[in-house]
Amino acid sequence: MITDFHCHAFPDPIAARAIPALAKEGNIPARTNGTVAGLLASMDQAHIARSVICSIATRPSQFQAILDWSLAIRSERIVPLASIHPDDPDLRERVRQIKAAGLVGIKMHPYYQDYFLAEERLTPLYQALSEAGLLLVVHCGYDIAYPRIKRADPAQILTLHQRFPDLQLVTTHFGAWQDWEDVEELLIGHKIYMEISFSLQYLKPDEATRLIKAHPAEYLLFGSDSPWAEQQDCLNQFNSLGLDAALCRQILHDNAEKLL
Ligand SMILES: [Zn+2]
Repeated sequence: MITDFHCHAFPDPIAARAIPALAKEGNIPARTNGTVAGLLASMDQAHIARSVICSIATRPSQFQAILDWSLAIRSERIVPLASIHPDDPDLRERVRQIKAAGLVGIKMHPYYQDYFLAEERLTPLYQALSEAGLLLVVHCGYDIAYPRIKRADPAQILTLHQRFPDLQLVTTHFGAWQDWEDVEELLIGHKIYMEISFSLQYLKPDEATRLIKAHPAEYLLFGSDSPWAEQQDCLNQFNSLGLDAALCRQILHDNAEKLL
């Protein structure tokens, strides 16, 4: 019963144009056609039971369409996250709507949404998410398609975690993409969730193993970032680390099961 905590999919008509555009921006090939059906086929192939879909509202007005689509596609195997834009005039109301709809949380992305993680204006959002017990899955570290400005680096993640200790924060890409020295120095060992997508391709196996073993085992989650990586390849990379079976089970399944 494997859960992939970081996937992307789009409504069918949008996938056809979003996937080529995103592939070009990031200069990276897509491994599915970007639809939910495409993701399910990839999951079947890799024997993945459940995937979390990380949608991103690139404008405040996209909130409702993403929420509606998320409710339409949710199932035993598909766990969609809503998305709130930082410029939304009523952040608290959006959190209330998501909670009422029964979704588990939101995905945010500081590059696509043009903000910095620890910005003061987001205090009402972080408070509301904490009170509602909703997950905040946020892109962390640099982004393959953007200049290297620190928008969600380990120092800002630590600040956020300390300011909002009750916030169910899930960092992506093993704490912060391509900022793993600072992850090791600042974040490893803290009770901060990390999903490990798009990191095992970049870290040496001994580096990845060292980080995994030094972090609290119940705060690690498997993720692929499909379609920007093949789910089966990510599983193979994870399995090739040779971690003990109990730890693998926690990362692939148990920790996600508790959070979702
Ligand atoms: Zn992603």
